Amino acid sequence: MISSQGYAAKQAKARIEPFRFERRDPLPNDIVIAIEYCGICHSDVHQVNEDWFPGIFPMVPGHEIVGRVTHAGAGVKKFKTGDLAGVGVLVDSCRKCESCRAGLEQYCEVGNIQTYNARDKKGDPTFGGYSNNIVVDEAYALKIPANLNLAATAPLLCAGITTYAPLRHWKAGKHSKVGVVGLGGLGHMGLKFAHALGAHVVQFTTSAKKKEDALKLGANEVVLSNDAAAMQAQTASFDIILDTVSADHDLNAYINLLKRDGVHVLLGVPDRPAAVSAMNLIMKRRSLAGSAVGGVGEVQEMLDFCSQHNIVSDVEIVQPNQINEAYKRLLGNDVKYRFVIELGRANQQS
Ligand code: NAP
Ligand code: ZN
Ligand code: ZN
Repeated sequence: MISSQGYAAKQAKARIEPFRFERRDPLPNDIVIAIEYCGICHSDVHQVNEDWFPGIFPMVPGHEIVGRVTHAGAGVKKFKTGDLAGVGVLVDSCRKCESCRAGLEQYCEVGNIQTYNARDKKGDPTFGGYSNNIVVDEAYALKIPANLNLAATAPLLCAGITTYAPLRHWKAGKHSKVGVVGLGGLGHMGLKFAHALGAHVVQFTTSAKKKEDALKLGANEVVLSNDAAAMQAQTASFDIILDTVSADHDLNAYINLLKRDGVHVLLGVPDRPAAVSAMNLIMKRRSLAGSAVGGVGEVQEMLDFCSQHNIVSDVEIVQPNQINEAYKRLLGNDVKYRFVIELGRANQQS
């Protein structure tokens, strides 16, 4: 077994504390990664707090992982020792169903296996990236471009792909008007991608203080969602709206802004169901959709796109002993725009 030094919540809603545990001995197709950085996604907080479903504890969160390969099994083809590598939200899936064969492993019909708070095919719990290392099948590991800042690349593995995939799926481009609701970890990446794809981008925010940042990040317009007149002025004009809000909010206010055949894509996962006006959807053949991260191939495509367009996340680096403070600040909407934990130092000590 491989010994790991991680940071875990020992039970639901508990503080994140140092935690020693073991990972499987690497199989022939596995690589071992010495983790340098791991992003803090709002999904980590949701899962530690059991907002969605009962969790598996102790829980080592973290699915925005980058580091260097320290071991490559005999069957490994994509990586060699010393290479940069990343792990996102998935570490396995059935590999046989229609979705897996289509490169959409996140929608695996048997059920994908997530990087943490899940059980692998043997039934053992998976542990995420708030740790000094990870063992992963190379089929679910990503090649990390060398020209990007490594810490700022970590959030691409979840916040990046979650916003990139729907923009590609719904074909955002030069002729699109795209809205991004919520300027947080996901939102700021959605804004950067929609801008890079050439769309006219409108950032919706509840935070007046984020207006300048949104413009710098690529927004053509910024709308304060509590300004009724400004919302009204955007009526029936959007092709795509990415909704990254993590808490309860009124979807109808945004669906009303879609033009005919426009789509409102739910990315954020509030803990309660939302009320939706059927009339609002029907009258303009509008769609309400959802989208989950991306398949392994899509994540690699996104990383290559980022490498070409020099796109990374705006990050604030924290140390492992600051994770609980970072959670508090994330819940208080006080992050610009992704916390990333520096784990390389812990690595050197272990
Ligand atoms: P985040 O950094 O906390 O950003 C969420 C943003 O939502 C905030 O910055 C804020 O933006 C807005 N917001 C927060 N509370 C609000 C409220 N009560 N009313 C209106 N707006 C509010 O979180 P994140 O890491 O980007 O994650 C966002 C959500 O996506 C989470 O629910 C997470 O679990 C989910 N997620 C889903 C996927 C997927 O595959 N679909 C992947 C990753 C994460 P403003 O200040 O600009 O209003
Ligand atoms: Zn995430
Ligand atoms: Zn499958």
